[in-house]
Amino acid sequence: MPDATFTTPALATFARLDELGLVVIGQRVEPDRAVLVCRVGDPDEWCRRCGCEGFPRDSLIRRLAHEPFGWRPTTLLVTVRRYRCIGCGHVWRQDTTTAAEPRAKLSRGGLRWALEGIVVQHLSMARIAEGPAVSWDTANNAVLAEGRRVLIADPTRFDGVQVIGVDEHVVRHEALLFRMEVGDLHRFAVVAVG
Ligand SMILES: [Zn+2]
Repeated sequence: MPDATFTTPALATFARLDELGLVVIGQRVEPDRAVLVCRVGDPDEWCRRCGCEGFPRDSLIRRLAHEPFGWRPTTLLVTVRRYRCIGCGHVWRQDTTTAAEPRAKLSRGGLRWALEGIVVQHLSMARIAEGPAVSWDTANNAVLAEGRRVLIADPTRFDGVQVIGVDEHVVRHEALLFRMEVGDLHRFAVVAVG
């Protein structure tokens, strides 16, 4: 007899949601997609203006495309609380910047997955967009912004680089679009993309 005892799957750890400051409270895994219902881990109930306590007023759902779970496109439905300050009446939302950039459609995990797919595995943007199931434009804009932030806006990116290599490869054959990567060959890290 096989052991029929199952433990609760630690999906939060699987999907690395703890790193995003999220707590999974429900999951629906279908053959072709996965949906994780989450809440924000930290309450964030203190007013940014006057420091008084806020009371929960209502909540809204923030939808984020996340890195694929297995090969399934994964969506996070994050319940975000809205508070109103008892002192000054200021209304604010729970801070979700650990999970995603403001107004972003991709979670930070989804972005990291996309960047790694392009830089390390050389996947096409069309394939990248399939992962979190977002449009090509959404994936492309998010990856470009994140690439700029991580690789280009970091003035210390050449710190500790010992061997630099340049790799150029065709990104889209039909458009003869080339991408150049400047890599730190010692650590196998790409430090610039042009
Ligand atoms: Zn206040």
